[in-house]
Amino acid sequence: MSDASPILWWVRRDLRLADNPALASACGSGRPVVPVFIHDGSVAALGAAAKWRLGQGVEHFARMLGARNSRLILRRGAALEVLRALVAETGAGAVIWSRAYDPDSVARDKAVKAALSTDGIEARSVPGFLLFEPWTVETGQGAFYRVYTPFWKAVRDRPVAEPQPAPGIIPRPERWPATEEIESWRMGAAMRRGAAVVARHACVGEEAAQDRLAAFVEARIADYKARRDFPAANATSHLSENLTCGEISPRALWHAGLSAMDAGKAGAEHFLKEIVWREFAWHLMWHSPHIATANWREGWDSFPWSTDETAAEVLAWKQGRTGIPLVDAGMREMYVTGRMHNRTRMIVASYLTKHLMTHWQVGLKWFADHLTDWDPAANAMGWQWVAGSGPDAAPYFRIFNPVSQAEKFDPDHAYLDAWIAEGRVRPSDTALSYFEAVPPSWGLSPADRYPASVVSAEEGRRRALAAYEARSG
Ligand SMILES: Cc1cc2nc3c(=O)[nH]c(=O)nc-3n(C[C@H](O)[C@H](O)[C@H](O)COP(=O)(O)OP(=O)(O)OC[C@H]3O[C@@H](n4cnc5c(N)ncnc54)[C@H](O)[C@@H]3O)c2cc1C
Repeated sequence: MSDASPILWWVRRDLRLADNPALASACGSGRPVVPVFIHDGSVAALGAAAKWRLGQGVEHFARMLGARNSRLILRRGAALEVLRALVAETGAGAVIWSRAYDPDSVARDKAVKAALSTDGIEARSVPGFLLFEPWTVETGQGAFYRVYTPFWKAVRDRPVAEPQPAPGIIPRPERWPATEEIESWRMGAAMRRGAAVVARHACVGEEAAQDRLAAFVEARIADYKARRDFPAANATSHLSENLTCGEISPRALWHAGLSAMDAGKAGAEHFLKEIVWREFAWHLMWHSPHIATANWREGWDSFPWSTDETAAEVLAWKQGRTGIPLVDAGMREMYVTGRMHNRTRMIVASYLTKHLMTHWQVGLKWFADHLTDWDPAANAMGWQWVAGSGPDAAPYFRIFNPVSQAEKFDPDHAYLDAWIAEGRVRPSDTALSYFEAVPPSWGLSPADRYPASVVSAEEGRRRALAAYEARSG
């Protein structure tokens, strides 16, 4: 295989040109670069909103590459078969990609690497999705971290390379292989009419992500620590949807945070800590992949959580109709925007797993279907943290009171007004757009009466504590 043969750049969750080690390495190889995105089983398995959002990102990235005199080749099929076919069609001698860390991707990538190597094709994976490779952070005893604070202390002073600019030129092959059309993939099909509503809130692509980061550092990072818990405050970066698609690198966030610290912006260190929560989530998933599928602490297997996804109370939770305003506001925010504020994520998760005594997996699945920033590691860690079954979890008996949480974090009801329409004389546009997004079969209207609570804050707390005490005793 000559060195002038093309290199396939297998594009995955790294939809960016800047600070992309896989792309930089492909361009640095001196070979023509053939970027390819594969719609394989891992894409097919995504929840509705996550798949739609990835489709938006891929479509945008294809346009970006086109503007750089390159092209994104789209193919559907099993990754190895597609890569082998492209090797045959292009005469490529090498394949490179940015690493993924969830168990299914790890297994697939290992098999692809082994098979391509047997074929005599150079196959290489490089970092780029995380700041710290999960296996490089170890306790003094050589184990992985189960608790966040020591993990933070172990990494906070580690050198992190500066983000690299986009390559000047992406060398193109003499002939491009055929590509499929993204429209034929129907990535938004499962969103139905909700897609048009969520689209108003998405911020797609590398430039948009960079602008978002710049605006956050300019106007909000200084007050981040003080204001990040107030869901109506627009105090956070909103970069999770971009990070999960790889439209911006974690190094870009890290260095923006460091510069803001140097400039004396008080909230910046807390922003770095939150970025490290993302690292910690992937560290946990890498070392204990069952975090997404089973109680991390086996002791919770006997807890009497219900797994009935169609119980009336659970349907009310999913539809934002529990009658607990802060819970309903959070669930509606997610339905309309594809995101939910971190504080309300904790509150709705607590209400489901404690007040409604329903298994965290029911909630994890609903989130996976409705979040545009869905991230398997952060989602699993978040649910198990709230439920009490995870590593470094909040103790089960510490139950969020959704009424006092609303008084504390939404004292002027700005968040509730943004998301609840029923009973308001002049409901906000965002609150009304919920009714535009949900399936007509739910039969909901802004003119409905706001429901009475399915389980009150006090009753739910009593029930949950009784179950916990019975288990402990
Ligand atoms: C039940 C539950 C489910 C969650 N599911 C997801 C998910 O699917 N995808 C997801 O990205 N986050 C998830 N989170 C974490 C968190 O809520 C979001 O990362 C955050 O709200 C994103 O908003 P932001 O980008 O404005 O964050 P910022 O406050 O601006 O923080 C910057 C970045 O740090 C990371 N981060 C912040 N908080 C956390 C956290 N608690 N855990 C892990 N990373 C964090 C994110 O990458 C975020 O974009 C979940 C939390 C809970 C409690």
